[in-house]
Formats: sequence, C-alpha cells, structure tokens
Amino acid sequence: MKVLVPVKRVVDYNVTITVKDDGTGVNLANVKMSMNPFDEIAVEEALRQREAGAVTEVVAISIGPDKAQDTLRTALAMGADKAILIKTDETVEPLAVAKLLKAVIDQEGADLVIMGKQAIDDDCNQTGQMLAALLGWSQGTFASKLELSADAATVTREIDGGLETLKLTLPAIVTTDLRLNEPRRVSLPNIMKAKKKPIDEMDPASLGVDMAPRLEVITTAAPEKREAGIRVETVDELIEKLKTEAAVL
Ligand code: AMP
Repeated sequence: MKVLVPVKRVVDYNVTITVKDDGTGVNLANVKMSMNPFDEIAVEEALRQREAGAVTEVVAISIGPDKAQDTLRTALAMGADKAILIKTDETVEPLAVAKLLKAVIDQEGADLVIMGKQAIDDDCNQTGQMLAALLGWSQGTFASKLELSADAATVTREIDGGLETLKLTLPAIVTTDLRLNEPRRVSLPNIMKAKKKPIDEMDPASLGVDMAPRLEVITTAAPEKREAGIRVETVDELIEKLKTEAAVL
C-alpha cells in the first residue's frame, strides 16, 4: 500500500506571531519555520503503519518555495521513503493544493493519503476534504485512531461528546487529529542522512493546475490586548467590583 503524506512548511508553533503594520499579513522575516504539527503526526502514522506491515511506501510531498525542502528533509529523516517538492513562490490556496495533489496522485498513484486536519498558519481545514471530493475517494477526518486492512481503513474520529468509528473503502483520505500519536524525535544521524537523499521536483505548470487565487485577504489584525487582572482583598470587594466595574451582576 502506497501512502502519500502532504507536509506544509509553516511558522513554528512556538513563535509569537506579529501582524505587519499595514495589516496585509503576518511577519515572516527571520521567523522559525517548521513542519505543520498535524503533518508530523501524519508522517508518524504512515511510518507506524509501514512498520506494522500494512504500508509498503511512504511518500512525503510539499508545495512551496525552495525552503520547503527543509520540511521534506524532516520527513525523510523521520523515515519517509521518498520526497517530492512542487515548487512555487506563490501563496497556494487549499483548492489549488488539492488540485496539485490530485494531479500527482493521477501520475504516481496512491492508495491512501494521510494529511493534517489543518495547517496552523491559515487554519483553513479544507484541503483534505477538497482532495477527497476531487478524487471521489472516501474520507475520514480528525482521526484519533487508524487501522488498515488490504482494502479498508477503520478511522476513529473525535466528535462533539464522543468518538465515531467509520470504515472507509480504500483508496481514502485520512486527516489527523492531535491524539492520533506522538511523533518520534529525529536523530542527528538520520538528519545527516536525509540531507543526502534526493528530492524530486515538479513544476505546477507541468501538472496543468490553475492556481489563480480565489480568495482575497482584506485585512489581518492582531487580537485585542487583554488587560492585566487585579487582586481584591475580600469577597465583598469582589462582588462590589463585579457589580459596579464589570457590570456583570
Ligand atoms: P489546510 O486545509 O490549509 O488547513 O491544510 C490541511 C492540510 O493540507 C495540511 O495539514 C497539509 O497536510 C496539507 N497542505 C496544505 N497546504 C499544503 C502545502 N502547501 N504543501 C503540502 N501540504 C499542504
């Protein structure tokens, strides 16, 4: 079973985001970038399934600038068999990402796609669902458990108030939730080895995909600053302030 794992290069989750003065986006200059955390979970899951014998090949794929090679090298260092970069310096919206992934799947084949439920930069949570629709494949989103057999994937999903278990006919798209697994740490020797592994490069134009943007970001704003809290001496004082200052009683 061949598994494709899309991995996006995003601002590292530990970075404190700042908004550009003109509101056109967030500052990316000199900011640490890493693999989207949900995609790390997707790579880990594909590797565990390979180690368990259910999967034969794990292919990582990223759409982005040259620098996205770093993200692919992380996937290779974790243990992915192969990496593909679809190179573009443009911002790529979820629909275009889904179309590019479909074009690669049409060319290269895949039985399963395991991908993040969302990218933590734009929080779209759209690409997996769009890809499933474009391919006409089954989908199991927000997976917290995945079991594979030769022709089916059993996905446990976290839903409001409980868990739902779905049996999907393969080929299928599975998107990962936080509790699916805890990704392995990459060892230094594996990082060094991954630096020498080849990365296949593809050009979006050669895949025949229209990447024209459909969305316009009107403005980006930082959340309102929260005021510092205060300490009160007595319960009476608290009640008084809740009545007079906060006006919530
Ligand atoms: P989104 O719909 O943008 O929240 O992204 C959901 C998932 O789609 C991510 O977790 C990735 O697995 C995949 N994805 C989105 N954009 C890219 C990209 N530029 N390159 C590779 N994978 C991507």
